[in-house]
Amino acid sequence: MRKFNHIYIEEGAHNYPLTAKLLNKNTNATKIEIKNYKHIFNRPNQNFQEQKESMKLILAVKKENYYYAGSKVVNNYGYEKFYYNTMILNCVYNCEYCYLQGMFNSGNIVIFVNIEDFFRETEKLLADIPIYLCISYETDLLAFEDLVPYTSLWIEFARTHSNLLLEIRTKSNQYKMIRNLQPTQNVILAWTISPDEIIKKYESKTPTLDRRLNDIQTALIDGWKVRICFDPILHVKNWKQIYKEFIDKTFSMIQAEKIWDISIGTFRINADYLKKMKKMRTNSDILYYPFLREGSLSVYPEKKSGEILEFMIDKVADYVSREKLFPN
Ligand code: SF4
Repeated sequence: MRKFNHIYIEEGAHNYPLTAKLLNKNTNATKIEIKNYKHIFNRPNQNFQEQKESMKLILAVKKENYYYAGSKVVNNYGYEKFYYNTMILNCVYNCEYCYLQGMFNSGNIVIFVNIEDFFRETEKLLADIPIYLCISYETDLLAFEDLVPYTSLWIEFARTHSNLLLEIRTKSNQYKMIRNLQPTQNVILAWTISPDEIIKKYESKTPTLDRRLNDIQTALIDGWKVRICFDPILHVKNWKQIYKEFIDKTFSMIQAEKIWDISIGTFRINADYLKKMKKMRTNSDILYYPFLREGSLSVYPEKKSGEILEFMIDKVADYVSREKLFPN
């Protein structure tokens, strides 16, 4: 994990051990005291991509919204009570299709240092109902593990709360950071994977497919529940060939019968975010696709997305039973 040259510290964030740890790790950083992280992070007219080149760290205290109801456009895998939370805003990677560019004004990273408050509020929710909670939204949590061990802490939290089902989604190859932990049945480690061609061209700074597959296979052998996410599938030139070879390669490197389930989805995005992203990436072929508008979303035409999903499901079903596939 990189060092930061600037760290903004919100009023109140100093009182947390994580803040002290992060400041100790970055003794040379310029420290700037701020009243509220939103004054820095939400400021209009910032250059997201420029900031991604040299990300600043913002340490803040989350004071509300310790979880959110999951979006209808995201697979809930049959769980009615589907929530997500955001302990970190923004990601170490910079995928060309990433919705965070459209959602946030800033490319800098916010870490909420008060994880105990997240635990406390989640416990209140769990007192009433079993829930499905995704904790790697608006970031890639495991990719930050060497900086903030939030993935490990949540796994330990889940271990003592059996009516919580946790999903931790990543594109990282940082499984080694949590490998010392015993697998627990109510935690799903979910890897998003893409063909090498797509990774090289559109998933800047993410690990190669081989590295991700190696992590997946190790986690499977260790006994974790593992979800594979073929999502987003991009409609690129020669997509059939590219995705066919990719699926064959995937299941030549991991044990298909051990996979918990698989999510399959074509690229879709909030139309307002897309508008903003296109201004930022004027030469992007994938963002300038002639999408159709479906409510608030920009999507591939139904015929095209149907064809892609059918193709992917047929190919994946050569390796994994259809009951384990969740198209989106
Ligand atoms: S890994 Fe996910 S969150 Fe991170 S940049 Fe890529 S799409 Fe965005």
